[in-house]
Amino acid sequence: MQKRVAVVGAGPSGLAVLRAFETARRNGADVPEVVCFEKQANWGGLWNYTWRTGLDEFGEPVHGSMYRYLWSNGPKECLEFADYSFEEHFGRPIPSYPPRAVLHHYIAGRVERSGVRGYIRFRTPVRRVAWSDAIGKFSVTVKDLQRDEHYTEEFDDVVVANGHFSVPNVPHFDGIETFLGRVMHAHDFRAADEFAGKHMLMVGSSYSAEDIGTQCHKYGAASVTFSYRTKPMGFDWPASFEEKPLLSRLVGKTAYFIDGTSKDVDAIVLCTGYQHSYPFLPDDLRLKTNNRLYPLGLYKGVVWEGNPHLFYIGMQDQYYTFNMFDAQAWFARDVILGRLPLPPAAERDADIKAWRGREEGLQDPFQAIDFQTDYVRDLLSMTDYPFLDVDKVAALFKEWEHHKVDGILTYRDKSYPSVLTGTMAPVHHTTWMKALDDSLDAFLGMQEAAQ
Ligand SMILES: Cc1cc2nc3c(=O)[nH]c(=O)nc-3n(C[C@H](O)[C@H](O)[C@H](O)COP(=O)(O)OP(=O)(O)OC[C@H]3O[C@@H](n4cnc5c(N)ncnc54)[C@H](O)[C@@H]3O)c2cc1C
Repeated sequence: MQKRVAVVGAGPSGLAVLRAFETARRNGADVPEVVCFEKQANWGGLWNYTWRTGLDEFGEPVHGSMYRYLWSNGPKECLEFADYSFEEHFGRPIPSYPPRAVLHHYIAGRVERSGVRGYIRFRTPVRRVAWSDAIGKFSVTVKDLQRDEHYTEEFDDVVVANGHFSVPNVPHFDGIETFLGRVMHAHDFRAADEFAGKHMLMVGSSYSAEDIGTQCHKYGAASVTFSYRTKPMGFDWPASFEEKPLLSRLVGKTAYFIDGTSKDVDAIVLCTGYQHSYPFLPDDLRLKTNNRLYPLGLYKGVVWEGNPHLFYIGMQDQYYTFNMFDAQAWFARDVILGRLPLPPAAERDADIKAWRGREEGLQDPFQAIDFQTDYVRDLLSMTDYPFLDVDKVAALFKEWEHHKVDGILTYRDKSYPSVLTGTMAPVHHTTWMKALDDSLDAFLGMQEAAQ
């Protein structure tokens, strides 16, 4: 009987798996039946923007954490799929930092062309995955939201690709319940123009705080205050920004920090990170980790140690994104196809420990980039994924880090060469600070007009 593989989620990670199997099929391999369950109505994961927050029209938790006016926070040249360049998709070179809609178009374009949409059952969240030793298979229970019905099917392998930037981590601060303004987690932040003229407090000092803070500034916030737990971000912030140590309490509209200083603010965005959440998995199959480059329990960051028929894609902290998901998907596919036999458990365990040990010694972002580069390189060496020069990608990531230090409001105006085609990206027609329209048409259409 033909093997069956279930994929949970049709974001960039799940789509990478579909693309990997489809590529093998087109090259003549005998591939399993692949069924992808996606709870949203469309593919693209976080890149599939939703205006909704809280619960969706079916009462399901909203997956989306992306906001309007979100532009790529790293050069697109660092995430380019090795088998599908931006130039191929758009028919010409485009600038290095596209807005969300443009990246969604690119992700969707590749899978549309490979014809995998038919493998996806949309509006179908996975509710429960259970392994049976007796039959050596998983039973996967899902809900068809439109029919309002559950059903269960059996699969030989399951690939978990439900993302880990969707379930917010929400700490409590004294007085927050009586704060006289708006409080939200970054997961629920949607449009910065709501905060024009407002004094904003971002709790956190990672990508979300940095990006939502600069967004709010771009769309007219009166001031932005960051509150950090470990250390300030230290960028060349404009005069209306400041960085404070941890928030200790709130009284009325006043935020007090642990150094004794205070600031009156109108709104608070908790940029306090996300939880890995797999409510459909039993404890013995469930990855439990914080956001890090090498979570324990996953051989090559992909194969579940407790059951090698279970795979996780995209669960690492991410410098690399789309092309790393591809590298993982090709690896998972080849394990499932029996092309890559797994070493004995003790060897797998030693491999995990070696990577984790190296991760624990990382001192700075440059070493972290090298670490993830080596990780992706290792995966790529084992499959027929098209050649990707990861040393060039790493060099671009490092340039990007320097550009952010040079100018947090101007780094998105830089251009980089494609690692695949060598073509230098054109400079965008409008600097990021002045580009208020983030639509695909504005990004591409005005570009045309300007040329
Ligand atoms: C605010 C924000 C900005 C970001 N900006 C960038 C950026 O500029 N550049 C970059 O490269 N990366 C960025 N990222 C990182 C992002 O994680 C990746 O780009 C990418 O979206 C991860 O893909 P994924 O498929 O692993 O997860 P997701 O994109 O989260 O997709 C997971 C999919 O699984 C589905 N799903 C969830 N639970 C279930 C279930 N039980 N059953 C069925 N389906 C389910 C979801 O609906 C979703 O479609 C950003 C992330 C955030 C939160």
